[in-house]
Amino acid sequence: MRALFIIDVQNDFTEGGSLGVNGGAAVARQVTEFLRANPNEYDVVFASRDWHDGTGDNGGHFATTEPPDYILTWPAHCVAGTPGADYHPELDTSLIDVNIRKGQGKPAYSIFEGTTEDGETTEEKLEELAVTDIDVVGIATDYCVRASALDALETHRRVRVLRDLVAGVAADSSVSALREVELAGAAVIPSTEGMKND
Ligand SMILES: [Zn+2]
Repeated sequence: MRALFIIDVQNDFTEGGSLGVNGGAAVARQVTEFLRANPNEYDVVFASRDWHDGTGDNGGHFATTEPPDYILTWPAHCVAGTPGADYHPELDTSLIDVNIRKGQGKPAYSIFEGTTEDGETTEEKLEELAVTDIDVVGIATDYCVRASALDALETHRRVRVLRDLVAGVAADSSVSALREVELAGAAVIPSTEGMKND
């Protein structure tokens, strides 16, 4: 069984958001186009959302007293129930089977730190569906995409990152992140390569 992970394609992580990443809106549009063009590629589509508390600093994740360092501390983003936490409007949510929320009251970069609406962990859901292969797309290459791909490899599944369907905070750290996941055992490929209907 093959799954797609769509990581954090949310308004706050795209242009105009509180932590907007250049190319984020394009990723939203292109992931939708990719799934529509490859309707039989995935048995299940997961999408994650950062889903922070509106009060407190979410375990030091939000910069409250000092300016954000954009490594460990960030401007407030993706507060549960706000427009910034919504999926980007160009991501067609009818294509999503499993919605994962992460980061309530704490930092959470990886989709494996989140749960479904029914409270199951991502790993429990993957096991239930007997998922063996995972492709990863989304935002941000150098943070949540990286962490999700590395955690997926830890579960001993086959992992690919579709490199034209990700967007990163910074160019250098995005290149490093893709190199790191490749060294850890993931394939980093264009979305036009290796699909079933090629
Ligand atoms: Zn966050």
